[in-house]
Amino acid sequence: MSSSTHAAQVSEVSARLFERAGAAIPGGVNSPVRAFNAVGGTPRFMVSAQGPWLTDADGNRYVDLVSSWGPMILGHAHPQVVEAVQAAAAGGLSFGAPTPSEVELAEEIIGRVAPVEQVRLVNSGTEATMSAIRLARGITGRAAVVKFAGCYHGHVDALLAEAGSGVATLGLPTSPGVTGAQAADTIVLPYNDIEAVREVFAARGAEIACVITEPAAGNMGAVAPVEGFNEGLRTVTREHGALLIMDEVMTGFRVSPSGWHGVDGVAGDLYTFGKVMSGGLPAAAFGGSREHMSFLAPAGPVYQAGTLSGNPVAVAAGLATLRLADAEVYRALDANARRLGGLIGDALTAAGVAHRVQFAGNLLSVFFSEDRVVDYTTAKAAQTHRFAPFFHALLERGVYPPPSAFEAWFVSAALDDDAFAVIADALPAAAAAAAAA
Ligand SMILES: *Cc1c(COP(=O)(O)O)cnc(C)c1O
Repeated sequence: MSSSTHAAQVSEVSARLFERAGAAIPGGVNSPVRAFNAVGGTPRFMVSAQGPWLTDADGNRYVDLVSSWGPMILGHAHPQVVEAVQAAAAGGLSFGAPTPSEVELAEEIIGRVAPVEQVRLVNSGTEATMSAIRLARGITGRAAVVKFAGCYHGHVDALLAEAGSGVATLGLPTSPGVTGAQAADTIVLPYNDIEAVREVFAARGAEIACVITEPAAGNMGAVAPVEGFNEGLRTVTREHGALLIMDEVMTGFRVSPSGWHGVDGVAGDLYTFGKVMSGGLPAAAFGGSREHMSFLAPAGPVYQAGTLSGNPVAVAAGLATLRLADAEVYRALDANARRLGGLIGDALTAAGVAHRVQFAGNLLSVFFSEDRVVDYTTAKAAQTHRFAPFFHALLERGVYPPPSAFEAWFVSAALDDDAFAVIADALPAAAAAAAAA
C-alpha cells in the first residue's frame, strides 16, 4: 500500500491559488477543462513533474494519467528533452527567420507519415486545423465543411458545433460569438455513420470543401472508427472532389510512430498535428501532399503566417521527443494502456458497476454504460453522474485522471510498477464510490 497518499489530502494552497486565479483569469484557468467544472472541487495547481508523477502546490503527489492532454508520452522532464530545450534556449529564444532545426522537425514528421510530403509549423492544434480548413477551401473554391458530432478540432469558430469534451462538459450546444454564417457553413454529422456522409454528399457534394475528422475520436472519450468508416470517408470525398482532413492532433505520434495512419493505413489529403510533436511546448503543424501544400503562401495564394511559428525552443522539445519515441516507447505506451484499462475494468466489475473501458489504440476511457459507445449520442447516454465520485476518489488517493467523463486518459511510457501500485490501491475505493453514486 502506498499509504502516504491516502491520508486526508490537503489542497489549501491550491484553493487559495484558485481564488486568486479567479480574480485575474476568467474562471481561474487558461483552458476550461482544467477548472474541474464537470467534477466539482478544487483544481490542483501543479508546481513540478517528473516521469509519471505530478506534484501540486500543497506537496501532494499524483500518478499522471492526463500527460498534459497527450504531449508527455515519455513522462515529465525527460532528461534528454530538458537538455535539448536548455541548449536551444541558450542559443537564442526566437529569430523570426528560418532555422536548421525546423527543417529537421518537418523532415521527422514527413518521414513518419507517408501521405505528408510537406508541413507548415504553427503554434497550436487550433491554428493547425483553422489553417487546414482555409487551405482546403482555397484549393477547392468551396465553403462547406463536414465535421462529426463529438469530435473536437480546437476552438476554431466554424468547428465548435457539437465539439465534444470541453464544450460538452460545460453543456454548451455551441458557442456565442460564432456567427450564423460560420455555423451555416458547417455540416455536423454523427461519427461512424458513413450512410449519413453519403447522403449529405449526394445532396450537397458540390459545396463541400472538406471533411474533417479525428481518425480515431478522443474528445468524446476514446471512440475508435468502426470497420470501413475511414475508408468510406476516403472514397466519398474523392468521388466528390472534396478533401479529407485527418486531425491527428491527439492521435498523432501517440497511437503509433505514424499516428492513426499507422493503425489503419487510410490516407487523408491534409493532416493536422500537435500535442506529442510539441514535446510539451507550443508547437503544432499541418501538412499534406506537395501539390496541396503548394497553395500556401509564399508558394501559393492561401495566406497563413506566424511570428513564433517554428520557434527554436519548441522545435527542440518536439524533435527530441519524437527522436526518443522509438519502438520500445510505443510498446510501453500500448502495454501501459492495456494494464491501466485492465485494472480499471477489474475494479469496476468487482464493485458491480456497469461499464466499458474503451480503447482507440492506446487512448482509453471509461464509460459507465453497458453498450459500446460509437458516437456522441451513445457517449452522452452513459451514466456520467458516476464519473465525479470515481474521479475524486482516485484524486484523493494520488491518481490524476482527466477531470471529465468525456476525455480520453493518456498514459506515458514512464508509468512504472510504483505508479501502477498507487493506481491499483486507489481503484477499489473509486469503484465503490462510482457504484454508490
Ligand atoms: C487538442 C486538440 C486540438 C486542439 O489543439 P490545441 O493545441 O489545444 O489548440 C485539435 N484537434 C484535436 C483532435 C485535439 O485533440
